[in-house]
Amino acid sequence: MTRDIKSIISQMTLEEKAGLCSGLDFWHTKSVLRLGIPSIMVTDGPHGLRKQSGESDHLGLNCSVPATCFPSGATLASSWDRSLIEKVGIALGEECQAEDVSILLGPAANIKRSPLCGRNFEYFSEDPYLSSQMAASHIKGVQSQGVGTSLKHFAVNNQEHRRLSINAVIDERTLREIYLSSFEAAVKQSKPWTVMCAYNKINGDYCSENEYLLNSILKKEWCHEGFIMSDWGAVNERVGALKAGLELEMPSSNGLGDSKIVEAVKNKSLSEDVLDKAVERILGIIFKAVDNKKENSIFDKEEHHKLARKVARECMVLLKNEENILPLKKEGTIAIIGAFVKTPRYQGGGSSHINPTKLDNVLDEIKKSASINCNISYSQGFSLISDDTDEYLVDEAITAAAKSQVAVIFAGLPDRYESEGYDRTHMRIPENQIELIQKIAKVQDNIVVILSNGSPLEMPWLNNIKGVLEGYIGGQAAGGAVADLLFGDFSPCGKLAETFPKKLSDNPSYLNFPGEDDTVEYKEGLFVGYRYYDKKDQLPLFSFGYGLSYTSFEYSDITLDKKTMSDNETLKVCFKIKNTGKTTGKEIAQLYVNDVESTVIRPLKELKAFEKVELKAGEDKTITLTLDKRAFAYYNLEIKDWHIESGNFEILVGASSKDIKLKEIVYIKSTVVIEKKFSRNSTLGDIMIDPYGAKIAQRLIKDMLGEEDSPGDDLGTDMNTMFKDFVLRSMVTFSGNKFTEEIMDSLIEKLNND
Ligand code: BGC
Repeated sequence: MTRDIKSIISQMTLEEKAGLCSGLDFWHTKSVLRLGIPSIMVTDGPHGLRKQSGESDHLGLNCSVPATCFPSGATLASSWDRSLIEKVGIALGEECQAEDVSILLGPAANIKRSPLCGRNFEYFSEDPYLSSQMAASHIKGVQSQGVGTSLKHFAVNNQEHRRLSINAVIDERTLREIYLSSFEAAVKQSKPWTVMCAYNKINGDYCSENEYLLNSILKKEWCHEGFIMSDWGAVNERVGALKAGLELEMPSSNGLGDSKIVEAVKNKSLSEDVLDKAVERILGIIFKAVDNKKENSIFDKEEHHKLARKVARECMVLLKNEENILPLKKEGTIAIIGAFVKTPRYQGGGSSHINPTKLDNVLDEIKKSASINCNISYSQGFSLISDDTDEYLVDEAITAAAKSQVAVIFAGLPDRYESEGYDRTHMRIPENQIELIQKIAKVQDNIVVILSNGSPLEMPWLNNIKGVLEGYIGGQAAGGAVADLLFGDFSPCGKLAETFPKKLSDNPSYLNFPGEDDTVEYKEGLFVGYRYYDKKDQLPLFSFGYGLSYTSFEYSDITLDKKTMSDNETLKVCFKIKNTGKTTGKEIAQLYVNDVESTVIRPLKELKAFEKVELKAGEDKTITLTLDKRAFAYYNLEIKDWHIESGNFEILVGASSKDIKLKEIVYIKSTVVIEKKFSRNSTLGDIMIDPYGAKIAQRLIKDMLGEEDSPGDDLGTDMNTMFKDFVLRSMVTFSGNKFTEEIMDSLIEKLNND
């Protein structure tokens, strides 16, 4: 339906317009019924619906209606599967329609800077490209159902510690290349209806009133057309926030924010035009929601549960499989151990906490998948409430394990270990679980550990066991998914979307996390996750992109559609993958780019494309991936734009960031000339990049030495290298009056003007 939004705005009072810029309550926008403006509902998000039933309490934490709990962001990203995430988005959109929710608060595209961030379970990855692709697919799915999303938390919200006041101090290149890139492609590709600004400050300004972030980058550069809402309670100064581009303050400020806006318009410190534009954006989305509302919608709970099981299965990552202990045979005696069997850790704590429509019991699912020839026992092994060892529980588990052919231990992080609102302080599972694994290893050689956790773990017990399946936070159907993989009904096909360092102190943010007082400095810069471990040549416990399968794959036949190109062309990369094993499986092929020679500091490789492909035993497929300018560019601070330096780039295709199988080289010629400005403080090395400057530099070195032949040999040194860092003005002194200030000035003028 077409409406004249401008005309509606012209009929609104100043108070009505200001009122529309903040919530009615915790979850709704305000209505202006006399003008046909309804109230719409927004609610969490991201991987399930948390719609509060009845009255919402003032923290929005009370009970919510039953909804499908899909695997959380960390888990979903390990699928590396765009179409699968889109399907999750479609299901979420259907549930929103059925519950009359217009905007789902998610997905969350913050980068995993430290393994300790309490909300890592909700975030996708340490890599901006993978994270942006997952976010874009999620948004595409939800919005295909006529429901909006709110891409959050924009931006640089990478810790829970002091999240409402912390100032993230970050350099521009790191901001652009890592932290904003994760949002950028999602905004450009999938056009989220709304974006939610983060609580924290970036370089001194709260995100909610950060003009550069909201108006300049998000709206002008990336062309975001919807509105920006605040995270719950993130507005510091309402009028400044509105001017910076924050349209909707959430939740209700009980009239406070609105009255400040009214007052500012009246005293002319805020132009009414700014308010009108904000209202126009909000109304645009409210009416979009109205027009896309599907009346009397319902969703199929069973179908969504089935989807949740398939998704969880496709996300879990097989980390270790010594002597092919997995899949288990559907016969013999199996000891199932661990408190998580009866009390699964299938979702994280905080605003994404869902009231699931149903919940798998993994023991029942294992029994259903195994045959009647299997003798399956269960023992609890440890308590989830305390980290202390309960000797009775340990003895019971040891007895069961000793009597069995294999022990499957369900271990991981209890709820209290990671949640929104606080960060972890270490990367270990509780002591009582570590002790249990080690004691069972004394009586049983065949141990498989199934993990539930939202972020990387240290594994001092890894050598004591044969198999590890990383189940992450698997959602309500995780139990069925584990059973599917345990006995080989399906092959594991997830890969890590983050690095597992051997120990916490190996992580690049370690020395500067979570900061001091209200400041956290991102001193590791671009070197987040594998970008750091690669450059330091440091082997982590498990690398970014790593994951095993029950089958095997072979990579071959890489070709590029060109060997030389200019920076405005695209490059097609083709290669073949063959399933060389005995069962059907899925492989995630990853393409990284390395700028071989660069004058700026760059990571050794960066993920720029990937594809997940299903192959039957013996089958092969050719994969084609296309790379555009952004795949090769870095953010240039002088031109404030993405830039490629002319030169060779390696195209690296592999099964993980550490397992590169194929390599090719392309030469890219830059079409952008960055003017270099010379001054009296330019070095001889600087002016040598200009052919005329190079000649002069040679002459100056010779003049300085006072002879034609270099005495370099006498000094045991290379004169060109030695003098390249001398600045021009110093040559006036060292040239014995041959190079005067006048000559220097005319040289600088010539270099700058030619
Ligand atoms: C969280 C958001 C969430 C909002 C509403 C905030 O505390 O940071 O992610 O959408 O609450 O529950």
